[in-house]
Amino acid sequence: TSKIIGLTGGIGSGKTTVAKFIEDCGFPVYYSDDRAKEIVNDNDDLKLKITELLGNEAYDQNGLYNRKFVSEKVFNDKELLQKLNEIIHPAVRIDFEDWVKKQKKYLVFKETALLFELKLHLQCYRSILVTAEDNIRIKRVMDRDRKTYREVQSVMEKQLPEKDKIKLADCVIYNNTNLDDLKDQTEKVIFDIE
Ligand code: ATP
Repeated sequence: TSKIIGLTGGIGSGKTTVAKFIEDCGFPVYYSDDRAKEIVNDNDDLKLKITELLGNEAYDQNGLYNRKFVSEKVFNDKELLQKLNEIIHPAVRIDFEDWVKKQKKYLVFKETALLFELKLHLQCYRSILVTAEDNIRIKRVMDRDRKTYREVQSVMEKQLPEKDKIKLADCVIYNNTNLDDLKDQTEKVIFDIE
């Protein structure tokens, strides 16, 4: 069986960019957030549970997940959001376990923003944190998503503080400079795990 390496980082840290470098090195990466977005449409059992929790409007006439409706519905309702997460997170976990079984490489990577928050690092052989200074991360996301400083900052404030994540991570990649440096650090981290 493959060893699982958790890959995480806050908004705009560069974890997806690191994940692509890892794929360039020939290792498979499971993108948890992307998969979550797919399985809310593909997994019938999950669809049923979401509909039971949020009503039929959670899916449109074509049976597609209505992200806008759902976000608005849970926006100011912490309890409902928690219930929704309690449905989605286990489904992603099972989907990941199925995916891992199909992999042939001795190392596989799981990219997720919530590695430490959901204690998923406890199921990993090693954890990698990508981090950068707040201002750099905010600026990168503003450029990428056309968001305001304040919008990015408010997402950041809701995430676990960097200092806590740094303590929990086995390896830390500091993404404060350029992409060449980021790639070098990524390759060194993978090499050290092997
Ligand atoms: P999110 O959690 O918001 O999805 P992320 O952690 O996956 O973010 P990326 O999407 O990888 O972060 O990076 C954020 C943006 O910054 C991207 O547009 C990416 O191309 C850019 N970026 C990342 N690292 C660097 C770097 N070292 N130099 C320049 N641009 C970078």
